[in-house]
Amino acid sequence: MGDALKRPSNLAWMVVLVAFIALSVANVLLLSSCSSESDEQTEQSQQSTQQQQTSEVQQTEQASEATVTQTEQDATASNGSATSNNGIDYLVLVNKTHELDPNWVNEIELVEATNQRGNTVVVESEALAAFEQMQEELASELAPLNATIDLNSCYRSREKQQEIVDTFTVDYGEDYVEQYVAQAGHSEHETGLALDVIPIVDGVELLTNDEMLAQTELWDIVHNTMPKYGFILRYLPDQEAITGYQYEPWHLRYVGTPAAQKIADSGLTLEEYLGEA
Ligand SMILES: [Zn+2]
Repeated sequence: MGDALKRPSNLAWMVVLVAFIALSVANVLLLSSCSSESDEQTEQSQQSTQQQQTSEVQQTEQASEATVTQTEQDATASNGSATSNNGIDYLVLVNKTHELDPNWVNEIELVEATNQRGNTVVVESEALAAFEQMQEELASELAPLNATIDLNSCYRSREKQQEIVDTFTVDYGEDYVEQYVAQAGHSEHETGLALDVIPIVDGVELLTNDEMLAQTELWDIVHNTMPKYGFILRYLPDQEAITGYQYEPWHLRYVGTPAAQKIADSGLTLEEYLGEA
């Protein structure tokens, strides 16, 4: 009886033991299978994230390329950060006696922006980025005046400048053109670094010279803020003999930092600062 009782008991334990070993082996196999599957999933997910990132970068590049309005760019010019210091002379002097190198336009990166009034303007890429940063600060500084400034005329091609000269000569006469309009090849606007802005006060765009000149408080704020962002006032009051133009508070010129602060602190015209007066 005792044996009879013992044997089944031993058998049962053996069955339990075998079953346990079998389950353990199966379990290990199962775990290792899950583990490798999970690694694969992680890898796939990483790959897919990388692909997504690559595609986002490509999309960004395509988008930024699409905004470039130049017909042809060399490889370095379209290459992001290399653009900011790719040999562009941000202190380039253009006036009635200094003509802009016709090749200039092939060496800079021009980008399009939409101004607050929904118009497309074209600006050199680094100058535009600096202006957009400045606008963030000006938004709060000009808020007490219920005012903003908006980009108006920025980059103009040599051909466009010639059209303006021709039209203004017909409409306003040669004297006016001599006073206010640069000849083709002699306009800072051909550099992509000159930004004409207009004030918008109480929701009203101020477009005439007289309306704009009357905004002295607004210009003080803009002119004090802009050197930090690389902009100078190009046509200073009472310096027509040197710059060739009367005071234009709206014509901002990008020269980069820290040059803009040095020039502003000196109180000199760009011509004097460069020793070209
Ligand atoms: Zn201008």
